Amino acid sequence: MSDHGEGPAIGIDLGTTYSCVAVWQNERVEIIVNDQGMRTTPSYVAFTHIERLVGDAAKNQAARNPVNSIFDAKRLIGRRFSDPLIQSDINLWPFKIIEGPGDKPMIIVDYKGEEKHFSAEEISSMVLRMMREIAEAYLGTTVKNAVVTVPAYFNDSQRKATSSIGKRNVLIFDLGGGTTDVSLITIEKGVFEVKAVAGDTHLGGEDFDNRMVKHFVNIFKRQHKVDISVNSKALRRLRTACEKAKIILSSAMETTIEVDYLYKGIDFSSTITRAKFAELNMDLFRKCIHIVEKCLTDAKMDKSCVHDVVVTGGSSRIPKVQQLLRDLFNGKELCKSINPDEAVAYGAAVQAAILTGMGNEKLQDIMLLDVTPLSLGVEVCGSEMSIVIPRNTAIPTKKEENYYNMSDNQTSMLFSVYEGERTRTCDNNFLGQFRLSGIPPAPRGVTKAKVCFDIDTNGILNVSAKEMTTGVTSKITITNDKARLSSEEIDRMVQDAEIYKAEDDEHRKKVEAKVTLENYAYDMRNTINDKKIGAKLGLVRKKKINDAVEQVIQWLDGLQLVDSEEYEDKLETLESICNPIIHRICGQNQKL
Ligand code: ADP
Ligand code: MG
Repeated sequence: MSDHGEGPAIGIDLGTTYSCVAVWQNERVEIIVNDQGMRTTPSYVAFTHIERLVGDAAKNQAARNPVNSIFDAKRLIGRRFSDPLIQSDINLWPFKIIEGPGDKPMIIVDYKGEEKHFSAEEISSMVLRMMREIAEAYLGTTVKNAVVTVPAYFNDSQRKATSSIGKRNVLIFDLGGGTTDVSLITIEKGVFEVKAVAGDTHLGGEDFDNRMVKHFVNIFKRQHKVDISVNSKALRRLRTACEKAKIILSSAMETTIEVDYLYKGIDFSSTITRAKFAELNMDLFRKCIHIVEKCLTDAKMDKSCVHDVVVTGGSSRIPKVQQLLRDLFNGKELCKSINPDEAVAYGAAVQAAILTGMGNEKLQDIMLLDVTPLSLGVEVCGSEMSIVIPRNTAIPTKKEENYYNMSDNQTSMLFSVYEGERTRTCDNNFLGQFRLSGIPPAPRGVTKAKVCFDIDTNGILNVSAKEMTTGVTSKITITNDKARLSSEEIDRMVQDAEIYKAEDDEHRKKVEAKVTLENYAYDMRNTINDKKIGAKLGLVRKKKINDAVEQVIQWLDGLQLVDSEEYEDKLETLESICNPIIHRICGQNQKL
């Protein structure tokens, strides 16, 4: 193995509840154990009056120090404090969250007797640093390169098995502690191609625990007429018992939870069946299945074409979830041979090795192809998103689209590049802009520019524009790191697009109606200014059309977007004035 003087590269799976670190070494991936001999480390950070603890040490003292023991931080990343999802999480967390600047959720702890505020990113980076230290202790060297990632890949034996039997479509279902990630990949001769990814950053094992906590809080209320949900210590102990019960219910049909002195000296004991647990969570389980369906739709693949369904993540061990998945795939058996706790770190280590060029021949024949997580496009009509490369397109890729000048005698065209799923560019992420200058003046809609989006294997996006008569060109290069979004932000944008779909559709309808009216008006103006037709029309009829057209153009120019009906009414009126005259002059068949 060659060393580029950079030290080894590691892969870290930053989980909501547990994290795992792996390294590519001796021609294979090794999962690194921590100082407790464990292959996974709790994603916990705790603060006491003397020190800061991370990992097992933090989790072990959590029951005694619930308000200063932070877990689940990953769920807060990229979310607003006012987000209803965060608000409902806050009710269940024993630690305190407040609204920070810019609606950012901030975690408050008591550290060495002082109040300290931390962002979720800061807490997560403490966990990441801990994982790197675990790797450094194991490798006996400093580590500068780490890949932190979510996609799930395969272990060696499975890869060999699958690559020898031609092309296979594999769906990977990763249901963890706080998140659901689904990816659909195609493997052919050792080449992995990611067809689509889908997920929910707020759906996982802890949500199932929360349902059970709520259930027992209600039972306690009924039995003892007291609400324990106001007491963070009681809640924390109940939650720990619920998580245990949930895990037992993956192998037993029934279990009893017992918490001594749960609240005000009352011992609590209650049984729960596997069926009851499933019923409490059925809507959430179905949500997981919808994500799988969405991934298939995005990949444009029928479920019957999926060869293997690989399940990973701790919560994928829940029997009801497995049954729903099997039912979706018409009874297909699920592959469970990857150790779910390690699959993701494994994938990250492979990727880390490739990115830092540490891979040897064995690694080089596993090529990783990726997809665009968000749609890419340019702004048109002032504020509309025109998509050139749709979301989930495999990269490298190259696509072209034609655009026309928006006003008469324009000598330059400005192209603004965005990524996102919303119809308005202001709701999407701005990546950069460039100007195409020196184009010959022409009436609106006559100058044609060919715009080309080209993404290379490194994810670098080149956008160029070429005016077709003169051949003048201009371009911009957008690299991965600059203005691009984090994976959490990407998830949020995709989710927002779904939430706002109705609103966006309504907006699109208005824009289309406006554009139709605008096009008609400008076409009419060009028609009556045509020498031949103008001569046939005569001054009176030409003036009649001209007045009507100019009135509409003026009305359009000074106007915010209005209801589509208003544009349609105006179009009808304008057509009723212009069409009879023009048709008489040009004949019915003349295309305007
Ligand atoms: P993450 O990657 O988000 O940290 P993991 O893949 O490590 O998550 O899964 C952790 C989650 O899986 C926890 O919510 C845990 O309670 C749950 N879990 C672990 N084992 C089981 C089991 N046998 N049955 C049900 N849930 C389980
Ligand atoms: Mg995970």
